[in-house]
Amino acid sequence: MRRLLVIFVDALGPAQLEAFGGRLPMVPERGAVRGVLGYSSGALATVLTGESPAQHGRMCLFAHQAPGHDHLLSPLKWLGLLPRWLHERSPVRRRVARALAAWRGLSGYVALGRVPPEAFSWLDLPERDDLFEADEIGGARTFLADARDAGLRTYVTPWQRPEDERLGQAAADIRRERPDLAFVYVTALDGVLHREGNGGRGVEAVRRTIAQRIEAVTEAMAAGGGEVVTLMVGDHGMADVDRVIDPGTRGTRRRFVDSTMMRMWGGANELEAARRELLPLGGTWLGGAELAANDVPQRTYGDAIYVLPEGSIFSPSYVGGRAAGMHGYLRQAPSAMAAVASSHALPASMRQLEDVGGWVRAQLEVA
Ligand SMILES: [Zn+2]
Repeated sequence: MRRLLVIFVDALGPAQLEAFGGRLPMVPERGAVRGVLGYSSGALATVLTGESPAQHGRMCLFAHQAPGHDHLLSPLKWLGLLPRWLHERSPVRRRVARALAAWRGLSGYVALGRVPPEAFSWLDLPERDDLFEADEIGGARTFLADARDAGLRTYVTPWQRPEDERLGQAAADIRRERPDLAFVYVTALDGVLHREGNGGRGVEAVRRTIAQRIEAVTEAMAAGGGEVVTLMVGDHGMADVDRVIDPGTRGTRRRFVDSTMMRMWGGANELEAARRELLPLGGTWLGGAELAANDVPQRTYGDAIYVLPEGSIFSPSYVGGRAAGMHGYLRQAPSAMAAVASSHALPASMRQLEDVGGWVRAQLEVA
C-alpha cells in the first residue's frame, strides 16, 4: 500500500498553480478539474466524499430551513434589537457565532457574516459537524472515514487553528505520527487573493511561504518510509473583481445575497418579477431545471438562483463587503476550475472535483 499526502489548497485554480512557477517540484503531474456551483463548504464536501452537492447536500454556508427543522438560528433574530452599527461588527458577530456553537454543540465551521437579523428566523446552517471528523456528510461517506475504518492511521491539520500555527506544526506532527493518510488544509492563498486579487503585491510572499511549507510536509511524509503519493488539489480558482453591484432591494422578499449570487425563494409570480429585475445585470438565471442540471440540492439553497457574470460581486452582501478577488461563479467560468497536481501520473478520467475522492480511495485501497 502507498501512503498518501493530500494537500488541499483553497483557491488553487489552474492559473494560480501556474503562478507558483518551478517552486512545487514535488508535484510535476498537473491537471484541471471542473469545480462545483457554490462556495468552499460545497467544494470541500465534494472532495472528501467524491459525490456532487446534489448528493451530499452542501453548497453554501446558509440554507433555507427544511420542514421539521430545529430553529437553530431563530434566537439570533434578537440581534435586530441592537443598533445595526453594533450587531454588524465582526467581533460582535464572531462572539455570537462562538456562543451559538458552544450552546448547540456545533463542531463545524460557524460564521454569521452580515446576515440581516430577521433572516435568522428562516435560515439554517447545514454544516454542524466537523467535516474531517464526521463519518459522512449528508449521507455520503468521506474518504477519511473509509481510511479510519480500514485501520489506516490518518492525520488532519486542525482547521480551527490559524494558518501559521496549523501548518507550522504539520511537519513535526507527521514525522512523529507517520500517518498512512495525511490531509493538509491551506487557506492563506484564498485569503490574500480575496484581499488583493491575482496581481496583488502580497501574493508572491504567500506563495513562497506555502511552497516552503509544502516542501517541509512532503519531506516529513517521506521520512515515514514506503512509497508516498502526493496530491495537491484546489476547490476553485479566483477571478479579479472589476464590478461591484449594490443589490438594493432586487429579488424576492425571502432572498440571500451571497457575494456572487442571489438565492431566492417565492412563488412563480414573485420569482418572475425578480428575474426581470436582475437579468439586466448580465448574469444567469437558474430556475428549477437549471438548478438540477448544476447539481444544486433541491430547494434548500433557493427556488431560483441568479449568478452574476464572472468578475462582478454584490456588495454589500450578507457574507461580506468589497473584495479584489472572488469565486463562486457558474461552473463554465474559468475561475470555477480547480487545479490538481501530483507526484504520480493522474488519470485522464479525473475531470471534475467529484472524481478526486475515488482516486484517493484507489490509492489507499479502501475503495
Ligand atoms: Zn474564498
